[in-house]
Amino acid sequence: MVGLLFPDDCRVCGAPLKQFGRIPVCPACLRSPRAFSGEYFCSSCRTPFANSFPLDASGRCALCRLGAQGFDAAYSFGAYEGTLRELIHLFKFEGVRSLARPLGEFLAAALPRDVRLDAVVPMPLHWRRRWRRGFNQSALLAAEVGRRCGIPVIHGARRVRATAPQAGLTNSRRRANVARAFAASRRRPVRGLRLLLVDDVLTTGATAAACSRALRSAGASFVAVLTLARADRRVPHPRQPAAEGRP
Ligand SMILES: [Zn+2]
Ligand SMILES: [Zn+2]
Repeated sequence: MVGLLFPDDCRVCGAPLKQFGRIPVCPACLRSPRAFSGEYFCSSCRTPFANSFPLDASGRCALCRLGAQGFDAAYSFGAYEGTLRELIHLFKFEGVRSLARPLGEFLAAALPRDVRLDAVVPMPLHWRRRWRRGFNQSALLAAEVGRRCGIPVIHGARRVRATAPQAGLTNSRRRANVARAFAASRRRPVRGLRLLLVDDVLTTGATAAACSRALRSAGASFVAVLTLARADRRVPHPRQPAAEGRP
């Protein structure tokens, strides 16, 4: 029974928590995610690279050259790995909503100070998924960013079509999966506004691009995407040792 009187263990590293609080993660784990620091960035979407090789003369990456992005810029705090990944999982899939505040701090830190913005827009969830999860994680994050940066939040986009989860799909299938999944809200006009679309993770950017296109076609003059984490394309995928011919 004595155990009930003491705080829990950290949900990330398992160390006993020394203080009662709303956040079930220790201060060391909350401090540990590292922001991206790269020498080379795509001038358009800000994806970091290890060298200038993937960038063209104007500093853009291949995806931006192909016009596949649909947004004007993309900022992320760090790589989708380690403690940051665990914190996002706790927040999104295990419903630890109190993490919105520290995660919102990371988002605010990733937003360049010189970008002029009129409104923050959360990435919408389809109502069915929102109902199942009980909350829209992007809306909680957007509220934190808006509060910290002094920018109003408007629910300017909505999901008009439920889509299958993106995980496990190829790039082109991801684009096809989310095409026409979004529309601008009729109640919150975005015409002429410079928007910051907030989401938790940017993988191929297909979802963010589809939502950005809907906002642009409703008249938004600029759409930047802000996420906590993105797949860091600097990290080479290690080749798996050949498994053929082994027992
Ligand atoms: Zn910890
Ligand atoms: Zn790019």
